[in-house]
Amino acid sequence: MGEESYKKLVEKIANSANLPIEDIERRIAAKRARLSGLISPEGAAQVLAAELNIKLEQQNFKISELSIGKRKVNILGKIIQIYPIRKFKKNDKEYELSTLMLADETEAIKVILWDTKHIEKIKTNEIRENDVVEISNGDIRGTLNKELHLGSYSEIKKSDLIIENPIIRESKNNEIVSNLIDLKQNSFITTRATIVQIYQPAFFNVCSQCGMKITFEHEKAICPKHEAVIPKERAILNFVLDDGTENVRAIAFGEVINELYGITENDIEMLKDSGFNISKKSEILGREYLLSGKVRFNALFDRNELVINKIREVNPEEIIKDMATELKIEI
Ligand SMILES: [Zn+2]
Repeated sequence: MGEESYKKLVEKIANSANLPIEDIERRIAAKRARLSGLISPEGAAQVLAAELNIKLEQQNFKISELSIGKRKVNILGKIIQIYPIRKFKKNDKEYELSTLMLADETEAIKVILWDTKHIEKIKTNEIRENDVVEISNGDIRGTLNKELHLGSYSEIKKSDLIIENPIIRESKNNEIVSNLIDLKQNSFITTRATIVQIYQPAFFNVCSQCGMKITFEHEKAICPKHEAVIPKERAILNFVLDDGTENVRAIAFGEVINELYGITENDIEMLKDSGFNISKKSEILGREYLLSGKVRFNALFDRNELVINKIREVNPEEIIKDMATELKIEI
């Protein structure tokens, strides 16, 4: 539990017990001292809550308070959209999956229903768009955006409560993803951006043993480490990323190019073919990727560039696939 959620826990106890926060903190500290620090602040807070007859697990969180990895959460939200039910087959058995967007006064979150009894409520219109629902025992998962997953142990039911001004915006997990406008020299970052320009690949020679850049002396390839070696050709690709905050030049080598172009190491000759490059370019431009790399400053052009070491396409179906893998289901 992070410091932030601990603070919220203390606030919740204080509110429910109608006591000042300082008082709650003092009691938690006293409890810990009595146990010679063998209990965490959260643990002590939970013990205190139990003593004060406050049932923490029955208290609702706001969507903005939820973080990836949190389990058994209860929230109240308004269904702002229900997506079409997806079907998939595994071992001749058909499975279904229902997705909806839920919002409260703080944020919106995608909710994934895996259990047939929950999906049935959607099918029979027992639960529909604009309904306020109470969800219990959901798990927060996800890679980029947090999602609320409901399994057989979860509950979703209609509520009479009203949510006046739902916020219809999902939060991005800013701990993981940086905006391109915030690039800091020499830092390693992951960003989510669209490729808006790709240039022709260029090629250079490296040592076939260690991958270091080589020089040619009297037509012999010389590695600074291995002396005379067999040269190996490597590709370098420049492209431009845009995430809406900034437009940044990116550089990729070998495996990253292969991943982006969907080719293998042996296909390096294909990269020299302009027809191949044009067709790949038209395929890739405008697509969104999740990219990790190091920020380096290019003094010549007086700008930050991103040297990519990992790339994958952002696929909205991806998280569904991840979940399916977990459940050993083929989509
Ligand atoms: Zn070498």
